[in-house]
Amino acid sequence: MERREFLKKAGKVAAVAAGVGAGCAKAKEAPKQAVTKTYEWKMVTTWPPNMPVLQTGAERFAKRVEEVTSGRIKIKVFAAGELVPAMGMFDAVSEGSVECGSGAAYYWGGKTPAAQWFTTVPFGLNAQGINAWFYSGGGLELWEETYAPFNLVPRPQGNTGVQMGGWFRKEMNSMEDFKGLKMRIPGLGGKVIAKAGGTVVLLPGGEIFTSLERGVIDATEWVGPMHDLRMGFYKAAKYYYYPGWHEPGTCLEVVFNKTAYDALPRDLQVALDAVAAETNMWSLSEFEAGNGAALQELITQHNVNLVRFPESLLDSLRKMAKETMEEEASKDPVARKVHDAFKKFQEQVGIWGSVSENAYYNVIADKFNLKM
Ligand code: CA
Repeated sequence: MERREFLKKAGKVAAVAAGVGAGCAKAKEAPKQAVTKTYEWKMVTTWPPNMPVLQTGAERFAKRVEEVTSGRIKIKVFAAGELVPAMGMFDAVSEGSVECGSGAAYYWGGKTPAAQWFTTVPFGLNAQGINAWFYSGGGLELWEETYAPFNLVPRPQGNTGVQMGGWFRKEMNSMEDFKGLKMRIPGLGGKVIAKAGGTVVLLPGGEIFTSLERGVIDATEWVGPMHDLRMGFYKAAKYYYYPGWHEPGTCLEVVFNKTAYDALPRDLQVALDAVAAETNMWSLSEFEAGNGAALQELITQHNVNLVRFPESLLDSLRKMAKETMEEEASKDPVARKVHDAFKKFQEQVGIWGSVSENAYYNVIADKFNLKM
């Protein structure tokens, strides 16, 4: 078919598709209607009300979407428990009772084991690495593939950066110290601690401080200095260990109901994707700025003992983490595929990070008297 003839035919098809049988005036109205159509959406999150960066980040996302789309998409945000319980987010968005949600993929390991790789992996990629995997290494396509059977479209929406290793009531000198240690540490990190002989205790956020203070647990991890300071853990445990080998770059997610997302005009889909990416950058920046300041406060005002895990202990944990990841990957063919892709990507970027960011951090660490 000649191009001109094709365009003519295509034009006719478009006019019919827009519901216009005859009349130019109506044909011109149709696209205008499509542009002015507005969408009133609901978002449920896994975060407690007002939780800095996590819940406030979800609220910021909604506000920015409304601004960017000139009010064509309005999203009303509900914190955990306000509309559905925290762990009900995935199902609510999947079933379409709400259009979107904010959380972290590792909460959904019970739905699909592969989900765990899209948040963070013990001794895996840091924030810079996981963003590189998502945006430039095929990671996001794999995440979309993993969530497609649940009618969900995922996007990275934030990152905590490397977390802290946790608060311990005693010094951790060797692997022996993990035997019988009662620690609040969820997810894959918890599986590694269990392998090391520890007892993993799962507690809701509100009960952690009291349990640590009373010695019901010997240790807990949470997020990083900014969030840990708010929880007051320094009053209950003497030793603040780093680095957070178990969560080296925890990615937060926004998920859309696929039917709702697919029904949007293309420009609104692009707006959602762009604001998610912008929120991802904003979140990491908030953590970077807030954690640095909070760490200084913990050291100078609360006399916290900042301690690095001994190298031999990290080596042992790294071996156990490797075994744990292989075990998890063996549970499911999708998890196997995602694990292999993640591993391959980490091997590809690993050496570069050591000679660039890591070498540079080591150089400036001398200046701050924090030899690594
Ligand atoms: Ca954590």
